[in-house]
Amino acid sequence: MASQPSVKLNFITFSNVIGGKCVDAENSEVPIASQDEIERAVNAAQAAAKLWAALPWAIRRAKLHDFINALDANSAGFAEMLDQEQGKTLNEAQGELYLSIQFLRRTATLELPDEEEVDRTEQRQVVKRYLPLGVAVGIVPWNYPVFLACQRVGQALITGNTFILKPSPSAPYCNLKVQLAELGTHFFPPGVLQALNGEDDLGPSLTSREGVNVVTFAGSIATGKKVMASCSKTLKRVILELGGNDPAIVCADVDVAKTATIVAYLAFTNCGQVCAIPKRVYVHDSIYDEFGAVMVAYATSLRLGTDKSFESIKNLLADVEANKLSIATGSTQNPGDNGQKGLYSQPTIFDNPPDTSRVVVEEAFGPVIPMMRWADEAEVIERANKIDYGLGASVWSNDTTQAGRIARQLHAGSVWINTHAELDGTIPFGGIKSSGMGVEGGLEGLKRYCNVQTIWSKLA
Ligand code: NAD
Repeated sequence: MASQPSVKLNFITFSNVIGGKCVDAENSEVPIASQDEIERAVNAAQAAAKLWAALPWAIRRAKLHDFINALDANSAGFAEMLDQEQGKTLNEAQGELYLSIQFLRRTATLELPDEEEVDRTEQRQVVKRYLPLGVAVGIVPWNYPVFLACQRVGQALITGNTFILKPSPSAPYCNLKVQLAELGTHFFPPGVLQALNGEDDLGPSLTSREGVNVVTFAGSIATGKKVMASCSKTLKRVILELGGNDPAIVCADVDVAKTATIVAYLAFTNCGQVCAIPKRVYVHDSIYDEFGAVMVAYATSLRLGTDKSFESIKNLLADVEANKLSIATGSTQNPGDNGQKGLYSQPTIFDNPPDTSRVVVEEAFGPVIPMMRWADEAEVIERANKIDYGLGASVWSNDTTQAGRIARQLHAGSVWINTHAELDGTIPFGGIKSSGMGVEGGLEGLKRYCNVQTIWSKLA
């Protein structure tokens, strides 16, 4: 077995990473990439792409393994940094590191064949090959910065692409370190893994640039549309992982205390700022009150944390008074009124709001959950499918036939039964409808980073 690389990062200085070197900020705590640095990074990525693609899959995998092991060895430092920069609890930050490392390890188990014979007759042979696209750019949001970066880097690199990461301006620190960037300089040839930090205007500079072949984007639907429009000008490939507003359908036969606690735990994870968690909870009429009481007890037991979407959450809560809606727990008053300074929002559960209300139709991306009654199976499926999001969904039932029947009718990229938001590097994950295009994860995910080529040989 290869010896474990030992790289110890400091979490004090932060650099762009260009052509295998850390390029420090001149005038600020974090670097802001200049046009010249963008140019240098894309050039370095293009030059490295040829060499990297020519290496056998097994060598790329071995380097990725070394990188993952080093990330693992530094995970405590990353978790602390993530806790400080993003505002999630240390526990949740450690969970994100664990998820990132597991996802990368599982991705590294995958392989696309170099060449595969897909047809052979007396007259001809046809083989299929997967060729890397070249330079990949990853643009990620602030809610799961480490995981979303790792998800992309593993797939891009193992398939033979080079990768430039653009972190979110709201959470760049871990990405500059992890991503690869600085840690990556110890394991990958110069130009294979780079990071450029900047404000929102850095995104368009990368999506519009010649020399970038694929953009893999995670973020809001509104920005995703801009990314796609920009990529179309140079016909870049694009993978879009966008917002979600996942329904959770709870059937009459569940263990109410257990299921309500799990659903509430999932719904308020990371202050509700997760792309795929229960965001609309449909509870069967016969258990609605009991289920709601457990959800409320869970929500009131939570301690408050920071909320970066404070303004948009305040806006949604204003809807309560304007439309005379009812809330089961939480507050529509100034969420700072609890005496704590800062951007705090109380965990809030809406009590059976109409399907057309903003809290049901829009992605809250904060600790605000609508809970609705249902009685008829066909009707609740229609209500769940009615809006234009299609990232995830879940069904909660002890009746496997009923759960499977409902699950197969839901319009979402991932449907979970008696769980929600489980991810694995070997399984494709992606949204349908406005929630995205393409997938990350699994062989299908790897193929998004490749061109397919067929070679036809006439034999007779
Ligand atoms: P956002 O769209 O505002 O920003 C995401 C990234 O895009 C940031 O790095 C930002 O700097 C960059 N960006 C901004 N303008 C750009 C432009 N014109 N061109 C290129 N890049 C640009 O999203 P956000 O508020 O940071 O994240 C929250 C959203 O992301 C939520 O809707 C959430 O559901 C979604 N999300 C989806 C997934 C998924 O896998 N489907 C994962 C995480 C988050």
